[in-house]
Amino acid sequence: MTESQQLLLVIALIYLSDCLLWAHARAIAFVSTFGKKGRWKQPSSLLGNPNGGVIVAHPFPPLGRVFVCRPWPVSFSPAGAFSYVAQAVNSDERCEQPERCVRYEDIQSVRTRSKEVRINDVVFFRADSEPLAESIAGLTDKLRRLPLEERAATIDATLATAFDEKAAGRRVEAFEDACTRLRLFCNGLFIFIFLAGPSLVWFFGWTWCWAPLLLVLLSAAAVIATEYYQAHRMLYPNEPGNRRVQTAAMCLNPLGAIRARDALSRHLLALHHPLAAARVLCDDASFRDFARRALLDLHFPLRPVCRAASADANDIERWFRERLRETADAFVRRAGFDPVELIEADPPEEKSSRTYCPRCQRQYERAAGDCAICGWSLMEWCILPREA
Ligand SMILES: [Zn+2]
Repeated sequence: MTESQQLLLVIALIYLSDCLLWAHARAIAFVSTFGKKGRWKQPSSLLGNPNGGVIVAHPFPPLGRVFVCRPWPVSFSPAGAFSYVAQAVNSDERCEQPERCVRYEDIQSVRTRSKEVRINDVVFFRADSEPLAESIAGLTDKLRRLPLEERAATIDATLATAFDEKAAGRRVEAFEDACTRLRLFCNGLFIFIFLAGPSLVWFFGWTWCWAPLLLVLLSAAAVIATEYYQAHRMLYPNEPGNRRVQTAAMCLNPLGAIRARDALSRHLLALHHPLAAARVLCDDASFRDFARRALLDLHFPLRPVCRAASADANDIERWFRERLRETADAFVRRAGFDPVELIEADPPEEKSSRTYCPRCQRQYERAAGDCAICGWSLMEWCILPREA
């Protein structure tokens, strides 16, 4: 392998590493090629740990897009807030959560510091995006100032906003409008780095090419960084600090600049529930598949549902989970699917299958007992046994 080929290989490996996005274990990603509805994905369990994993973006032109959503990470009730939720759509085990419970009357201050939400100057929750941290802090602060009888309606309104698929759709449209030129520049830079540049070096040699190539590379990165800055200002008007850091990084790293659209799209729907995002970004079959997983998780949460010792924490978690389940059922119904039908058991896979777990749908030959994974009591099929 020549030195030029080795250099190209190193550049390709660095670029591929820019296509790997780290996401929280509870996050749902929507990855698609350009102009198409995509499928939902969960972070890789092979390239990850119990708290998160890797999502792979499309590395080749037309580069596609990646959105990452996370179910609401804090339970709220009219009594207080608890930084824990029972949902574990992606996994057979629940990832670590701060599990801090606070009653509204005990709150003196709610602040954010970058992605941290601090209540009474103690970390209450650490979000994976600044808008999510701001949103949780804003809701907590609002609820503590409201009279008790108005809090439930406020929480319901917040859930309704998270499930507003029309608002999510408008946000995706705004992203596409803001990125029209950026998409062309990012694809152009990819073609320049991996096709045009190496071809020029092959024809004319490094001695003649390195200076003009470097000039074009840095100019292209600067143009992309400028486009990124303008699009970011439109889509995330309240995040000037993040915008400046990312823009500077793109000027210095032309390979990272190719992925500028990922940096813009990634947290675009952070305040929306993954079900609303799935309705906008997935085709019907993929939405149905995800809705089934999400509803099974809400109707049959992983056991034990909540290990908190305090009665307050248990009450807040239960209140919020029931509200969330009702909202999700209503959303799925509006989308044209019957929630009851959606969470019906799969048919028996074997003639010997006698029971199934209502949560994970694993099938057992035992007549009774608990699921070894989820802890749910095994159920029998209504019509037994029928051919698979
Ligand atoms: Zn199970």
